[in-house]
Amino acid sequence: MAIRCPDGCGEIISVNLDPRTGPAWRLFERAGAVTLYPSVWRETGCEAHFILWRDDLIWCDGLESPRWKDDELKRRVRSILPPRGAAHKHFEELAVQIDGIPWEVLWACNSLVADGVASSSVKGSRFGLAPDAPPTKSSIVDRRA
Ligand SMILES: [Zn+2]
Repeated sequence: MAIRCPDGCGEIISVNLDPRTGPAWRLFERAGAVTLYPSVWRETGCEAHFILWRDDLIWCDGLESPRWKDDELKRRVRSILPPRGAAHKHFEELAVQIDGIPWEVLWACNSLVADGVASSSVKGSRFGLAPDAPPTKSSIVDRRA
């Protein structure tokens, strides 16, 4: 996949989508809109760093999307967070579990941390339920499984 660099420098960035040929990005299509994971970071030239999320461009100065809000996804992420005392899981792993877009699962996790429901570790990449989070129905089911 080739992308014209969005900062206007005119360069074409090639994005490898084939994991057999080395480090590759993953492309997610939802409702006709395209998301690329992880971010694209040009280490030379203009050094542009951005995310393509549902056909929208997000510059990586903050990694936060104020327009994003999805309570249903937050609920689903919360239901699969490792219980208190268990090892935290990487948000990519959580995304695979619910067939979610990794960015959105990360944002959901961050939002749960802000709510005091989840806690994070390893520079905010791994998540679990916060020690004082009230149990949910589905986490009880998880524990029995
Ligand atoms: Zn550029």
